[in-house]
Amino acid sequence: MDRTILTGALLLDGSGGPPLSGRAVVVEHGRISAVVSAAEAPSGTTLKLDGLTLLPGLINMHVHLCFGGEADPATVMLREAYPMTVIKAALRARQTVEAGVTTVRDLGGRDYAELSVRDAILHGLIPGPRVLCAGRGICMTGGHGWNMIGRESDGPDDVRKAVREQLKAGADVIKIFATGGVMTPGVEPNSAQLTADEVRAAIEEARKAGRRTAAHAMGSDGIANCLDGGITTIEHGVFLTEALCERMARDGVALVPTLIAPHAIATGGVAAGIPEYAVRKSLAVADRHLEGFRTALRAGVPIAAGTDAGTPCNPHGTLVPELTLMLKGGMAPDAVIHAATAAAARALGLEQETGRIAPGLAADLLAVDGNPLERIQALDEVRLVLTQGRIAVNRLK
Ligand SMILES: [Zn+2]
Repeated sequence: MDRTILTGALLLDGSGGPPLSGRAVVVEHGRISAVVSAAEAPSGTTLKLDGLTLLPGLINMHVHLCFGGEADPATVMLREAYPMTVIKAALRARQTVEAGVTTVRDLGGRDYAELSVRDAILHGLIPGPRVLCAGRGICMTGGHGWNMIGRESDGPDDVRKAVREQLKAGADVIKIFATGGVMTPGVEPNSAQLTADEVRAAIEEARKAGRRTAAHAMGSDGIANCLDGGITTIEHGVFLTEALCERMARDGVALVPTLIAPHAIATGGVAAGIPEYAVRKSLAVADRHLEGFRTALRAGVPIAAGTDAGTPCNPHGTLVPELTLMLKGGMAPDAVIHAATAAAARALGLEQETGRIAPGLAADLLAVDGNPLERIQALDEVRLVLTQGRIAVNRLK
């Protein structure tokens, strides 16, 4: 019989509500079929999770599987042979799911290697999370990302073509670079890059195909262009203002803060081997980044967790360093868990698929030792991971 019962754990169902005890989660054919009181649990293979906390598999809204989190990952990737990038990306996918992250959104890779990793996981060839891919990010000529993961394009017509290329390659989501950033030399984070017309063209083209959009957007003018065009998520949001946050809250546009990305660069510094321009720009935006995050919190902007994994000194796997910074920024523990589960699923349009422990959803589940509401580091004490009902990690005694 294909039925597994998970009992004994404290249940954090992802909805943001208080933890529940005395429940049994019933998994059948890869999905959660019921959540019942332990006394009413049906027969089946029982996994006893006493002393553990059971929560939905975590979601990382912003990763780069083709980058390895070295001090200068772009240079490492561009110098290695393409097949090596593919192998490493597959290993990083395994590392990700073993950390309890069962869904990621990849916002830029190398020649669509990450799409093949996505498909290999989908076909059961290799272990890994559910992966949504953007393919190449759309940037202006010489704009942020051009030297790594970008598809340079200029003018609304060319931007449309660039989006169509990503759709043709199999992209699940479209990524645009609306402003300068940290990891490309010679561009400034607070300057707008793609024009309002170009941004609008990209979003319109994605929408026609039923795809959502993500914008690398640090500067306020670029963020405004994205909101005008109807973007789905703002990545980084360093120079967010009160007015911009009010618009995001009203329109339901989610912020993916990625606080750890510039923090890791600023902390590692040139001593770690990180390029000087990236260190200088990260130090310059660090305080403003936290201020933007706090402004978004106050305004009630939906927040979804993402790490920008793969960027300098920012490895794949755990979300804990990012969630720790979100707590430090003033977010409540239950809201932080919500941001890494149900709120993220909603931003991806997957709220009926993952991000909560509720009947009908995929059995993406994570059991950890301890209560992450009391100690966020408990999320690193992974004991059991299920991805769509398949066991990816089992360290139960
Ligand atoms: Zn990124």
